[in-house]
Amino acid sequence: MQRYGHFIAGEYVDPIAGRWFETANPYTGKPWAEIARGDAADVARAVEAAVAGQADWAALTATARGKALVRLADLIEGHADHLAEIEVRDNGKLYAEMRAQTGYIAEWYRYFGGLADKIEGHVIPSDKAGVFNFTRYEPLGVVGMITPWNSPLLLLAWKLGAALAAGNAAVIKPSEFTSASTLEFMPLFAKAGFPAGVVNTVTGFGAEAGAPLVNHPEVAKIAFTGSDIGGARVYEAAARQIKPVSLELGGKSPNIVFEDADLEAAVMGAISGIFAATGQTCIAGSRLLLQRSIHDRFVERLVEVAGAARIGDPMAAETHVGPVTTPPQYRKVLEYIEIARNEGARCVLGGGPVEGAPGGQFVQPTIFTGVHNAMRIAQEEVFGPVLAVIPFEDEAEAIAIANDIPFGLAAGVWTRDMGRALRLSERLKAGTVWVNTYRAVSYTSPFGGYKRSGIGRESGMESIKEYLQVKSVWIATETSVANPFIIR
Ligand code: NAD
Repeated sequence: MQRYGHFIAGEYVDPIAGRWFETANPYTGKPWAEIARGDAADVARAVEAAVAGQADWAALTATARGKALVRLADLIEGHADHLAEIEVRDNGKLYAEMRAQTGYIAEWYRYFGGLADKIEGHVIPSDKAGVFNFTRYEPLGVVGMITPWNSPLLLLAWKLGAALAAGNAAVIKPSEFTSASTLEFMPLFAKAGFPAGVVNTVTGFGAEAGAPLVNHPEVAKIAFTGSDIGGARVYEAAARQIKPVSLELGGKSPNIVFEDADLEAAVMGAISGIFAATGQTCIAGSRLLLQRSIHDRFVERLVEVAGAARIGDPMAAETHVGPVTTPPQYRKVLEYIEIARNEGARCVLGGGPVEGAPGGQFVQPTIFTGVHNAMRIAQEEVFGPVLAVIPFEDEAEAIAIANDIPFGLAAGVWTRDMGRALRLSERLKAGTVWVNTYRAVSYTSPFGGYKRSGIGRESGMESIKEYLQVKSVWIATETSVANPFIIR
């Protein structure tokens, strides 16, 4: 078995307490590597390295930092096969998807590399005579980044690209289920010319390694992606120190199909919306809202296509649906299938484990009809291949059902009526609305949640501000002899 230490100040180091834990391949169910089980002492060591690294990094010109990010992007492309293999070994997602993802990740670093020397302050037209007032944007310092298991390197890129371009250093705490890809990624920073200590990784469990990172007084901000419950814990702890956070949390996104839509395209959108990545994406279209007039024939076609999905080895090109990533997640998905049945929803496809599958962590693509929006299967995030189908009469009812949820990450709309598309894009309470497509994301476009789905935005120009603070500088250009006791 391979062993991975923390990555601190440019090298792999053993955990101070000498403790390790195993990481398993979700397809085989077998452990394949040992990961450092970090705690507060390891976090303190990494933060100390990051404080020094940040000083070196901020001392470079913004152009030099941007060039390093662009070199990193090129290196990622050269290592995309290897990084994708490691991702699949740890999270069980399809190699085809992860290979596309690891190649695409380079674009986030390239985009933010380009942005690094375009962060400009302003001269403020002052109301006072004899002063020159301007703003400068400054890095926050050391940013703590906490990531989940579903797309470790992609969700890291969304944070790290912007944070580094802004002149910050990072201490990363990846998910305990998928630490290896982040650790394999670390040596590329030195190759790209980053000073040691700018990017560090401490591995371990949320309570043991994540919480000390949030609580460390020299960590200026936390960027977190994960569950809403985990996000709330991080937010509470950060609040005690008045520490800013950005939170990318869960979702229960509506995918709404109107009778005038291209129905075949909508079927494919509904399928990829929920069954891609075995439903383990924050943007999963897990509530399918169908106009009553097309409900039955749409469901029939949906069952036909989803029922033909090939389930199996995520490394094989012909596989459509892979395993569930973690044993607790597998149990949770099966529990929700039981909850849906007990609530009176009708299972029209799947509804249980895949018998005889290797590793024992496969769930059949599952579809429930007859779902009412008040049911738990409609309100709570399953994070698995389970679709809840909810009928609606008209546009007003579709909007009401879509918004009647504590989450607001994304929404899909399928219609040929562009007036309706615009009305819905305005009225849906979600950070992303897709019309006649689903799951599109890009480094150019802001991503984030309304309501319980999060705080802040990742990707796009404005996301860089999540990693900057603004300073207002006043310079007197004339000596004032005014009464010093009166402020004007
Ligand atoms: P999780 O909340 O269990 O864990 C996320 C990370 O937080 C892990 O690294 C974990 O170790 C750490 N953590 C847990 N408790 C902590 C604590 N008290 N202090 C500090 N760190 C702590 O989430 P998960 O199960 O790994 O990921 C799945 C969830 O992530 C889903 O809810 C999904 O919707 C969400 N997600 C959101 C997005 C998005 O961009 N909005 C993207 C992907 C996944």
